[in-house]
Amino acid sequence: QSLGSERPHRAEAVVDLAAIRHNVATLRARAENGAQLMTIVKADGYGHGMIPVARAAREAGADWIGAAVLEEALALRDAGDTGPIFCWLTTPGEPLEDAIAAGIDLSAAAPWEIDELVAGVTDRPARVHLKIDSGLSRGGAVPEEWPALIRAALRAQQAGRIEIKGIWSHLASSDEPKSPANEAQLATFTEAIEVAESFGVDAEFKHLANSGATLALPETHFNLVRPGVATYGLSPFGHALPSAELGLRPAMTLKARYAMVKRVPAGAGVSYGLTWTAPRPSTLGLIPLGYGDGLPRHASNGAPIQSGGERRTIVGRICMDQCVVNLEDDQAAAGDEVVLFGPGADGEPTVDDWADAAGTINYEIVTRLGSRIPRRYI
Ligand code: PLP
Repeated sequence: QSLGSERPHRAEAVVDLAAIRHNVATLRARAENGAQLMTIVKADGYGHGMIPVARAAREAGADWIGAAVLEEALALRDAGDTGPIFCWLTTPGEPLEDAIAAGIDLSAAAPWEIDELVAGVTDRPARVHLKIDSGLSRGGAVPEEWPALIRAALRAQQAGRIEIKGIWSHLASSDEPKSPANEAQLATFTEAIEVAESFGVDAEFKHLANSGATLALPETHFNLVRPGVATYGLSPFGHALPSAELGLRPAMTLKARYAMVKRVPAGAGVSYGLTWTAPRPSTLGLIPLGYGDGLPRHASNGAPIQSGGERRTIVGRICMDQCVVNLEDDQAAAGDEVVLFGPGADGEPTVDDWADAAGTINYEIVTRLGSRIPRRYI
């Protein structure tokens, strides 16, 4: 059986770009008061492929593309994306010249970061968004640091070295929309904007909302929202509010073909450590994917798959390149297709089912899928 390409593959991740476009358009329509949309494509588009996702997002109306690190932002420019790109995570001493020259919007949270941006300016001013720590305690300036950051930014702007384009922050608990932490962060961020304006900062873009907030906290939208995971049709709320109820379509299906199918007697131990023993004569399927491909080893003995239309379970430990599924008494043969996860519409497990089996979140399941798995775009 072929997985749809000319030669049968060991495995493939099929990425539905129509689903991505649908999700981007849905998120854009959810943005309050005409706020712009930034589609986050960091970490290789959450494992879906950064460049194809960014292209699909632009087609569907994304005003901005967001990337975490400089390599990602520059790769987007190299791929021909000429629109606004925001990149927020640099480390001291990293060369900023190329990104500034490429017109990529960068972030600064401290006077020394403003100095590094100024030092990286060649022919055009650096486009800068001031990062506020409104309560996440990750990056960003805390209230006592706001005046120094704002003064340094204004000095550099007056010298023609930077343009203050935005002021932004990031939420800790938007996956729990009722958490009082959201209100507290919104209040702190609003205060930061007021303080910046009182110093004379006139930043065009104010942004705070990730997926959870784009979907559930309209008061956090300001004039730009930054959803990531929802772009891929995955719910930031997990099972509490599945993606279908949010009008989102999961974009990725992970498939493989059995490398071998065999019958074992009752009592046969399976995989390293023999952590599962066949309770009765059983058919086992060997899936040629393992933690070296990004399958979580924590999902050993329990992750669901779909085989011949049936839900079956991975038994024994997930190895580096392989794992074993208990096919019970199914008729199956080497080369048959097995679906590890997909949108769920045909009864296949979802990314959230895998996240549950591994004790993690849907983000991690798709983002960790390795480069050894080819992506096929439909
Ligand atoms: N904005 C920033 C700064 C982020 O780090 C992320 C990802 O964590 C996002 C937006 C998108 O978040 P999510 O995938 O939860 O929508």
